[in-house]
Amino acid sequence: MKLDVIVIGAGTAGCLAAKTIAEAGLNVCLVERKRREEIGEKICGDALGEHHLKTLGLEKPQSGELEKRIEGIKIYSPNLETVFTIQHEDFVGNLLNRRLFGQWLLKKALDSGTELYDLTQCTKPIFEKGYVTGITAKKLKTGENIELKGKVIVDASGFLATIRHKLPKQMEIENEIANEDVEACYREIRQLKQETAESKYCEIYLNQKATPGGYTWIFPKNGAKVNTGMGICMRPNFPNPKNQFYKHVLTRPLFEGSLLLDGGSWYDPTRRPLDNMVGNGVAILGDAASLVNPIHGGGIGPSMLSGHLAGKTIVEAMEKGDVSKKSLWPYNCKYMEIYGGKQARLDIFRLLLITSKDEDLNYGMNFKLLTEEDVLKAGLGEDFHLNITETAKRVFRGMRRVRFLNKLRLTVNIMKQVKIHYENYPKTPNHFEEWKTETETLFRLARSKIGN
Ligand SMILES: Cc1cc2nc3c(=O)[nH]c(=O)nc-3n(C[C@H](O)[C@H](O)[C@H](O)COP(=O)(O)OP(=O)(O)OC[C@H]3O[C@@H](n4cnc5c(N)ncnc54)[C@H](O)[C@@H]3O)c2cc1C
Repeated sequence: MKLDVIVIGAGTAGCLAAKTIAEAGLNVCLVERKRREEIGEKICGDALGEHHLKTLGLEKPQSGELEKRIEGIKIYSPNLETVFTIQHEDFVGNLLNRRLFGQWLLKKALDSGTELYDLTQCTKPIFEKGYVTGITAKKLKTGENIELKGKVIVDASGFLATIRHKLPKQMEIENEIANEDVEACYREIRQLKQETAESKYCEIYLNQKATPGGYTWIFPKNGAKVNTGMGICMRPNFPNPKNQFYKHVLTRPLFEGSLLLDGGSWYDPTRRPLDNMVGNGVAILGDAASLVNPIHGGGIGPSMLSGHLAGKTIVEAMEKGDVSKKSLWPYNCKYMEIYGGKQARLDIFRLLLITSKDEDLNYGMNFKLLTEEDVLKAGLGEDFHLNITETAKRVFRGMRRVRFLNKLRLTVNIMKQVKIHYENYPKTPNHFEEWKTETETLFRLARSKIGN
């Protein structure tokens, strides 16, 4: 049987895509290497802003999927002397029971008519006449190799990006992303001896010695459980996150006598989105397309958004009987308009954060070179409105940190340029090459001016 759409990966991106496509009456299957009951389990911080569900028109799940309500984020300076408390509706959310949340999304896809091939590992794409027209896969229970044919193949296989890595250059989809654009993470779920006093906030700790180019998180779960871990930027010679975690985090009094419930490592791609996420008969979603907020690494919301947007575009393309790159292009445009432009700006801000010294961050946070409002705006992907008076004040405060101040100013300027550039994302593939060249120029400039 030839399927309309084959979605690889039943994570948050894949389930939303399959649901959206099946709801339109198309014939869609999800190919997932995990067993059905394990779908949703993932090494993750498990935090999800409430607004993501609202944006997608999803009701709040009611059966234990939302484990603990969170009222905001606290960000600690490296010397722990300054704490920013970010309270804003976009930072109100929940700590998820990740497996139950994944199962909830899966059920939505299956109830809409999606077929599930679980315990099935996709191995590679099949090409015919310049189109991706199917996949080969291995049934993990029996070892049998199978072929599935479809009109559109969706790569929602997460960081592994099984299909993306094997696409030909002519498709103009980046096969590889740079190590420096990835955070290596280690995470544990721990049962503490007693519940922490302030358990309604997600806590983030900046410290370049413990987590170069990343941060430590301690997120409260139900009872006295916490989801805690760290991400480290994979620049040359980056330290092992698990070793760092045991050395710098588990030694805190908070964890004395705590019990390890679950632990593991995984990767978070924290850069701008792939410049192009579609080709003839193929679309790339979620982590496979690097759709993660570059400064806090949250990707559940953007991955679901990509599933929804790509799903809608694929349905329209199928209705036209044209699944070419040109016909799938609106998915790029919609994602870049809603979230991709913000993500790209935050990628610039990330360069500032990962290259700032602990003293700069201590000083900057303590003397309000960076304010809570700036951090909030950065988190929301909004512009910093540095006006002259304010800048002058900041210059005065920052006299002893002129280099950092200059970097901050440059960051703001380049973020503005990136904003305008993404507002001009090409409406068709025709002008993509020029746009991409300009993107690369902007990011090269940012790396040379901020990222060192
Ligand atoms: C340590 C860590 C902490 C994080 N914390 C947060 C957080 O607190 N909040 C937040 O919003 N985001 C967080 N993220 C990011 C978030 O987890 C991801 O952005 C999100 O899960 C991406 O969803 P996805 O569907 O694209 O990929 P995934 O959730 O990774 O799903 C991909 C699916 O594809 C399957 N698959 C892979 N290869 C194949 C194959 N060859 N064949 C068949 N199936 C395959 C996998 O088994 C998996 O089910 C964190 C990430 C990490 C690593």
